[in-house]
Order: sequence, then structure tokens, then C-alpha cells
Amino acid sequence: MIEIKDLHKSYKMGSNSLHVLKGINFSVAEGELVAIMGSSGSGKSTLLNILGMLDEADSGEYTLDGVPIKNLNETKAANYRNKFLGFVFQSFNLINYKNALENVALPLYYQRMPRKQRQEKALKYLEQVGLKEWATHLPSELSGGQKQRVAIARAMAAEPKVLLADEPTGALDSTTSYEVMELIQKINDEGNTILIVTHEVDIANMCKRIVHLKDGVIIEDKKIKQIRAKAHV
Ligand code: ADP
Ligand code: MG
Repeated sequence: MIEIKDLHKSYKMGSNSLHVLKGINFSVAEGELVAIMGSSGSGKSTLLNILGMLDEADSGEYTLDGVPIKNLNETKAANYRNKFLGFVFQSFNLINYKNALENVALPLYYQRMPRKQRQEKALKYLEQVGLKEWATHLPSELSGGQKQRVAIARAMAAEPKVLLADEPTGALDSTTSYEVMELIQKINDEGNTILIVTHEVDIANMCKRIVHLKDGVIIEDKKIKQIRAKAHV
């Protein structure tokens, strides 16, 4: 599904340059649930943003579902992004003046899906995250965990090939975090490929593989026996 080879990324800062990713190699097969771990500043978000085509590497190769991601213009990159990738962020990134259903339906609007169809689909995905009854509520009326579940429904409604989540539980208490992880595990059980950035060991242990970044290189990459989130709730 994902294949990257010798990926490098530096940020220019005046006359200086900060080498953030220093030759990253890894691949992710369909159906994997991967945690990307590492301390703050180790390059986790930079890597995820490149995988998510929100940013570009300086050198190296990136292939997503067989498509080489290179030198794409903004329109083409946006098309691939919409078609291939779903995003979940620590801060939910919901639109405050739109209700839960409208938030989930928005990416479908950009896919030019007719109104009735996108409403139905959005409701179906809200139901899957256990929030059908909350469809008409604004984000301000939802708890943090509920907001993140809406964000996950929004990402999944577009049926991405890969779900990318940057610290999805970073703003949540541990009970709520485990609820969100239970949902992520359920989505992964259905065969979806998911990458999660986290610096929390208990969250990483709920994945199936841990890739450990340090100072821009992978220092460890191991499959693990997954801990089910249910056990903690
Ligand atoms: P992590 O997500 O692991 O905390 P990041 O990938 O966000 O790490 O950042 C890695 C390093 O790159 C940090 O030192 C950070 O300050 C720097 N960095 C991140 N984004 C930018 C940017 N847009 N411009 C300059 N430096 C950046
Ligand atoms: Mg980060």
C-alpha cells in the first residue's frame, strides 16, 4: 500500500537548514495498523504529512497504492489526497458552524456526490461510530471523544485507502482515548490500513506494529501482539 525509500526532508530556516528526516525506509501492507512513535521533534508529523501529501520530501521515493507520488501539481495532489487518504488530527479540525452530519458529509460534497446520497452516507458513517443520535449537534455540543469520532467518520466516509492519524488521542483523557482506539481497531478489523502517530506507549501497544523514530531515522520497526482497547475501558 505504502512504500518509501530513502526519504529525506530538511526545513530551511534563514541560512540554516534543519535535517528532519534522514533516510527513511519502510513499507506498509494493506490492512496494517501501524504506530509511529518517537519523542517530540523526532519527525513523526513531518513523515505523516509527507505520506499524506500535505508536504513533499526533498528526495527519496514514495509509492502509494502503486502510484509514484512525485512532482504532482496541486490539483493532481489534491485529487490523490481525496481519493487515497483520510486524515484525523489531534485537534479534530471540525467545522464549528456545521453539525456532525454536515461535517461528515463535507468530503463527499468535494467528491461531487449528490446531496441526498451524501446525507445518507454521512448518517451511515455516523452510525458506525455510534453517533447517529448526535447528527444534528454542533461540535461545541459534543465531548472531545465524540468530536474525534465525528472526525473519524468524516475521514472514513470518503473510503480512503489509508487512514492517517496524527496524535488522535493527544487531546483526550485515557478512558476516552481507549474508546477512540477501540473504534480505530474496529475500522482496522474491517481491513482498513491505518497509521497513527503517537508518543503514548499504551496507545502504540493497541496497534499491530510499532515504528520508532529518533532524530529522523527509524531505530526500531517491530510487529507486536495487539492489545485490545476494550480491556481498558
Ligand atoms: P514530531 O511530530 O515528532 O514532534 P515534527 O515532525 O513536527 O516532529 O518536527 C520535527 C522537527 O522539525 C522539529 O524540530 C520541528 O521544530 C521542525 N519543524 C517541523 N515543521 C517545521 C516547519 N514547517 N518549519 C521549520 N521547522 C519545522
Ligand atoms: Mg507531531
